[in-house]
Amino acid sequence: AKSLGKSRYEVFATGMLKEAVERLQLESDIRQGIEAEEFLLYYQPIICLKTGRIAGFEALVRWQHHERGFMPPGLFIPLAEETGLIQPLGEWIFQQACHQAAQWQQQFPNYAALQMSINLSSSQFGQSNLIPILEQALKQAGLNGEAIKIEITESMVMGDVEAAIDLMLQIKSLGMKLSIDDFGTGYSSLSYLHRFPLDTLKVDRSFVSRMDESHEDSAIVQTIIALGQNMGMNIVAEGIEQDSQVQMLKALNCEYGQGYLFAKPLSSEAATDLLNQHPQW
Ligand code: C2E
Ligand code: CA
Ligand code: CA
Ligand code: CA
Repeated sequence: AKSLGKSRYEVFATGMLKEAVERLQLESDIRQGIEAEEFLLYYQPIICLKTGRIAGFEALVRWQHHERGFMPPGLFIPLAEETGLIQPLGEWIFQQACHQAAQWQQQFPNYAALQMSINLSSSQFGQSNLIPILEQALKQAGLNGEAIKIEITESMVMGDVEAAIDLMLQIKSLGMKLSIDDFGTGYSSLSYLHRFPLDTLKVDRSFVSRMDESHEDSAIVQTIIALGQNMGMNIVAEGIEQDSQVQMLKALNCEYGQGYLFAKPLSSEAATDLLNQHPQW
């Protein structure tokens, strides 16, 4: 029987080869998928907890792969980042999100303050032509910078702090707003936080989801909210799934929320329907 079995090494090497081939395939698929317009954006509403109004949307990328079907970003964003393909993909995401924001502004003039939040990945943050690309996306869509909010994460800005501040100021000079995403999960240095020109702080879902279970987690949320507010930031709580969380967050003076309780990320059509259902807002 021994002679029939593959050696451990062989099995291991075959597995690695298969994985490498798959990665290579996926990499070329991303490249082609951009060309073939297989990517699309979904939009999850961000809600004002006091009034129930839609304050804006977060654009979240999806991939309608010609063979594999519908793919969430967790399956391709990391590879896109490693291979640099996040740059062309990210450029398309900016253009598409700006285009959608401009369309909604025209269609829903009552919602003039509607903001579109766009995620930026770390390799885009270091991209030398980031600012011209953002500027171009605004121009093409005929959109004012204020309509866009760029979401960055703590780890992106903690390396070269001075360079990061400079880049953030350049984004702000386009009129765009800045948000710090997944707050509390990265290795942030609180001593720098006040130097960053941030408008919004997003409390990570991991804290929000445990709020009603543990006193410690609700204390963390309370502290993060107070910290952000003391620095003049708006607060968005992510991943709200239960009404009890809304009640606790309101009691903590948290202004905005996002999560499945309100809506899952929606297609452009479904998000437009949602806005249509509330013309009086
Ligand atoms: P994120 O920026 O933290 O986005 C929020 C994620 O939480 C989204 O997952 C959203 O669908 C999910 N979510 C929202 N509300 C709830 C809730 O109540 N419960 C639960 N369990 N989940 C909720 P998604 O769309 O799969 O995106 C995952 C991550 O992929 C994002 O995390 C972001 O880091 C990245 N990503 C998504 N779109 C883009 C993009 O356009 N560009 C870049 N660079 N990254 C993106
Ligand atoms: Ca985000
Ligand atoms: Ca987030
Ligand atoms: Ca998160």
